[in-house]
Amino acid sequence: MEERGPHGASILVVEDEEPIRELVATALRFTGFTVGTAASGAEALAEARRGAHDLVVLDVNLPDLDGFAVCRKLRAGGDRVPVVFLTARDDPDDLRAGFTGGGDDYVTKPFSLEELLLRIQAVLRRSRARGQESEPSRLVCGDLVLDEDACQVWRGGAEVALSPTEFRLLRYLMLNRDRVVSKAQILDHVWDYAFAGDPAAVETYVSYLRRKLDDRDARLIRTVRGFGYALRTPDADPRRP
Ligand code: CA
Repeated sequence: MEERGPHGASILVVEDEEPIRELVATALRFTGFTVGTAASGAEALAEARRGAHDLVVLDVNLPDLDGFAVCRKLRAGGDRVPVVFLTARDDPDDLRAGFTGGGDDYVTKPFSLEELLLRIQAVLRRSRARGQESEPSRLVCGDLVLDEDACQVWRGGAEVALSPTEFRLLRYLMLNRDRVVSKAQILDHVWDYAFAGDPAAVETYVSYLRRKLDDRDARLIRTVRGFGYALRTPDADPRRP
């Protein structure tokens, strides 16, 4: 585990021209970042895949893979690490290629270290704000908790194993809690469009969910006759103290 700098961030600098690479790395270290370096696209991928960096400064003109290709490969592998491109090109097509390849910002050579630093700090701020926004990946309804990222569900602290369809059904009900959703709406949102919607399937899966969630008396997932179903939060139930 690398020691993090006072900024709490580690940056990977990818540049084949040694003087520029060392200049940028030294300036970032001096500012307080932890810095790793790579001199080619292949080296950059190997280094980035270790997952130890909070941001990658990525030169576009590299001897093997260009920077855009490196970024696309990272994104294709599910890596969301923020990327700031260093580019000598001011061709708008190239810049678009960079952003569609998943880059977050770019600095055009020749750049000042101050400008690069400002871009890096802005991108890090944005990515931290994003991280905080996306943190509540959990839906909570009384003693029922659903983690969207981990695909796990707990009731009263005990994990409940659900099939993918049961999970999507519960997620849809929780997203619409205290609101009645029709069987047609459930079919649209929970099943693939290819599925020839059979409302009986919804009834079947609701009964599976009730059994697994220990909701035999249907107090959690209510049947609203003639309309559909509603997942009730305990607080919204007037008959409960
Ligand atoms: Ca270069």
